Amino acid sequence: MAGPLKRSKMGRRKTRPEPHFVYPCCDYLTLSERGRHLICPICFWEDEDIYHDTNPREPSAANHGLTLAEGRDNFKTVGACEAAMLPHVLPKEDRAAYLYFPLKD
Ligand SMILES: [Zn+2]
Repeated sequence: MAGPLKRSKMGRRKTRPEPHFVYPCCDYLTLSERGRHLICPICFWEDEDIYHDTNPREPSAANHGLTLAEGRDNFKTVGACEAAMLPHVLPKEDRAAYLYFPLKD
């Protein structure tokens, strides 16, 4: 006799409100694509390569040699991936327009 039908993973979708990606630097949902050198309006990290997600201590050329780990630290302390980018990022009160998925680290 046949067991219960196993649903393929394809049929199930993670419930994310929009087909966007969480930015690896600030954990806000701002990315429409990954690895396409999109710049996050919230932290100003440039999404050079998904590679940095798993290698956060690897310097990112697109981010002036900054590592993703440094970018995350900077975002927490100064509010941008590096202090020099502060004039370009969204003011804190405008971040509410984006969903936030903070990672525990
Ligand atoms: Zn960001």
